[in-house]
Amino acid sequence: MAASDHVNLEQFMEGVQRRNPGETEFHQAVYEVAVDIFDFIADKEIYHEAQILRRMAEPDRVISFRVCWEDDNHNIRVQRGYRVQNNNAIGPYKGGIRFHKSVNQSILKFLAFEQTFKNSLTGLPMGGGKGGSDFNPKGKSDAEVMRFCQSFMTELYRHVGEDTDVPAGDIGVGAREIGYMFGQYKRITNEYVGVLTGKGLEYGGSLVRTEATGYGAVYFLQDMLSEAGEDMEGKTVLVSGSGNVATHAAEKATQLGAKVVTLSDSGGFVHDPEGFTQEKIDWVKEHKNKQRGRISDYVDEFKGATFHEGERPWGVECDLALPCATQNEISKEEAETLVKNGLKAIAEGANMPTVNEGVEVFREAKVLFGPAKAANAGGVAVSGLEMSQNSARISWSADELQKLLRDIMEGIHGSCLEYAKGTDGYVDYAKGANIAGFKKVADAMLAFGVV
Ligand code: NDP
Repeated sequence: MAASDHVNLEQFMEGVQRRNPGETEFHQAVYEVAVDIFDFIADKEIYHEAQILRRMAEPDRVISFRVCWEDDNHNIRVQRGYRVQNNNAIGPYKGGIRFHKSVNQSILKFLAFEQTFKNSLTGLPMGGGKGGSDFNPKGKSDAEVMRFCQSFMTELYRHVGEDTDVPAGDIGVGAREIGYMFGQYKRITNEYVGVLTGKGLEYGGSLVRTEATGYGAVYFLQDMLSEAGEDMEGKTVLVSGSGNVATHAAEKATQLGAKVVTLSDSGGFVHDPEGFTQEKIDWVKEHKNKQRGRISDYVDEFKGATFHEGERPWGVECDLALPCATQNEISKEEAETLVKNGLKAIAEGANMPTVNEGVEVFREAKVLFGPAKAANAGGVAVSGLEMSQNSARISWSADELQKLLRDIMEGIHGSCLEYAKGTDGYVDYAKGANIAGFKKVADAMLAFGVV
């Protein structure tokens, strides 16, 4: 095919939109990658001929299933479960399970697509997948969550396996849910294998997995700053969310001498101008994740802090930002406000927290921007290490794992840099991550022929 016969970016996106009607988050995620990849492959005929990007944007399979369970009042409830297996060119599918009322096929397809590039960047042999359900764990009893997880796994078990597809946690899926799902998998298959990661330490989990995503995002931020001749010391940081990723990002940023002044949940954000100390972060972890309370309660516990109902933290003055809640939580206008208030660098702990127009605002203002697929890859990297430990039936020490996590994040930063340096000196990490993530998967796909 002559170069002029290739579809251009607009035609490619028209096709994606036509084949995936109404799946706006999926369109957004594919577009964000396609912009950089079209540029990169402009003079690389082989990727065009093999239709590599088109194949990557078509999941290997999308599995959708009914999940029935009984609530404590004996009502029968019906939810929808999913597993999107996007691409296994470089290893078994790997990616979290999300339980949230907003979950739908579009969100899981975007997450599975992103995961493919992220996993490639870690340098570990993992393909990309994602799953979940529109089940809302909020306000449910432990017994209800257990019955739901067991019912969910009763269907999912036939699609996953230690060498096939290894899910993990995500929003609404933590240690409790992983425990219930692992128990049900073991019960059905009579096999004790590493089919899930994020497991409890007593039954095959890895040290440092819980901290890995948040810590990794801060390491990435630290590496971007260091490349620019700066550090974290004394910087004011905005963090959104108050779950696993947010609390550990706040913890590591604090340990590195920065001052974290916000945390949030879907009800609003807390502003603590004094900064979150370790003691305060421990309180949030216990209150939000164990007691399943609300972040608004923080102001009753710690004087001087204020709660801003229904708002996001991006209007507070800061040097650095770590969005760690959910997708599309920084709009174009909020990105502009952050820039106006002096933002120097941002690392995405959550998946796709910034809308594409917001990313453009950061790029134009030359704000250092660590995209999710690079910045939050620490979690899946330690999940990959959990798989290795399970296969070898060994456990590594926290020190060893901390060092491996630090090295992997440094490696990801280095891979991004390879393709990220522009002629004006600005390091475009989003572009670097897209190209570095793409190349490894694409070359593996070429090796397999037309499959
Ligand atoms: P958690 O369930 O532990 O915490 C999620 C947090 O985000 C909660 O504070 C929640 O508030 C808030 N949140 C969720 N939805 C919304 C919303 N619509 N608006 C405002 N706040 C919201 O999840 P994680 O910390 O594990 O995940 C957070 C993000 O990080 C997600 O994007 C996830 O995909 C990503 N991620 C997670 C990894 C991991 O290892 N856990 C790995 C890589 C990425 P509330 O309690 O009110 O719901």
